[in-house]
Amino acid sequence: MDMKSLTREELKIKVEELGEKGFRAGQLYQWMHEKLAESYEEMTSLSKSFRAKLEEEGALMKLDMIQVQESKADGTRKYLFGLSDGNMVESVWMKYRHGNSVCISSQVGCRMGCKFCASTLDGLERNLLPSEMLEQIYAIIRHTGEKVNNIVVMGTGEPMDNYDNLIRFIHLISSPGGQNISQRNITVSTCGLVPEMKKLAAQGLQITLALSLHATTDEKRRELMPIANRYSLKELMEACRYYFEETGRRITFEYALVAGVNDRKEDADALSRLAGGLNCHVNLIPVNPIKERDYRQSARGQIEAFKNKLEKNKINVTIRREMGRDIDGACGQLRRRHMENDLA
Ligand code: SAH
Repeated sequence: MDMKSLTREELKIKVEELGEKGFRAGQLYQWMHEKLAESYEEMTSLSKSFRAKLEEEGALMKLDMIQVQESKADGTRKYLFGLSDGNMVESVWMKYRHGNSVCISSQVGCRMGCKFCASTLDGLERNLLPSEMLEQIYAIIRHTGEKVNNIVVMGTGEPMDNYDNLIRFIHLISSPGGQNISQRNITVSTCGLVPEMKKLAAQGLQITLALSLHATTDEKRRELMPIANRYSLKELMEACRYYFEETGRRITFEYALVAGVNDRKEDADALSRLAGGLNCHVNLIPVNPIKERDYRQSARGQIEAFKNKLEKNKINVTIRREMGRDIDGACGQLRRRHMENDLA
């Protein structure tokens, strides 16, 4: 029984099934999600016999901290966690002026196949449970002793490909009896699964949706991202508009600049036309080269020129600050390196 993935209501039913009073569920929830207890044993306001019953239901979800790398440049930390089945996931902790952010993984591996991404090279292993997404954050809070203000679901995996667990995770991490992180400070990034984007729009959440766009024509997008064979840019833009209409939340477009592939003036103009029709923000990401592919980063001047062009076209745009480059900062690189070392 994965207690940490249960909502408050489900937990109450479970606790009563175990022969305890309903209000104990509130205490148990608080121990798990607010006080971040690592075992039932720590939960001293619960009776010994209740703790023993909980233990019989199965151990409390916990991750092994396999490795922590800290960037000398900016203090960014990259964590490698071991799951109970031996798989590994990575998460990143970033310190900004406006607070601490954690980037979490939503799957072990990924089946989306984006050409520039290290996370997808070996395909999808499995989905992460809500408790495994939560524990990436909880373990980092315990380790740093600091509060987490922002969450981005932008690590390994396609969150919309693990939809139900993602929604459950969002409810748990933003619940008042837990870490109570405002949904407005949670961003979910997708390569563009249109039906799930629409479903999310109607879910009644206040999170930010980020769309990994990376190209301005269907043809170019198909070269970089296999998902573009399934959904056209037109369908994607419609889904983004619908998301904004339903939630009032401004969309973020992510656009990784790849030298000679999507970084020309014409691309900036085409991107301006796409973005101009929507209430959105464009985040330019200098592509992070991975050794398995020969995509190169655009020169600094090219990136600046691209940004200026968008600004001239009245598009709201920022360049993503590169953090933790010295510590395998790009998606999936730390996990891959570990797997390679294990094989060697
Ligand atoms: N599957 C989701 C979330 C994980 S990827 C998605 O596709 O959005 C998070 C972001 O990092 C996406 O925008 C993805 O396209 C981008 N990304 C992946 N590999 C990258 C690389 N090597 N350099 C720059 N951005 C990369």
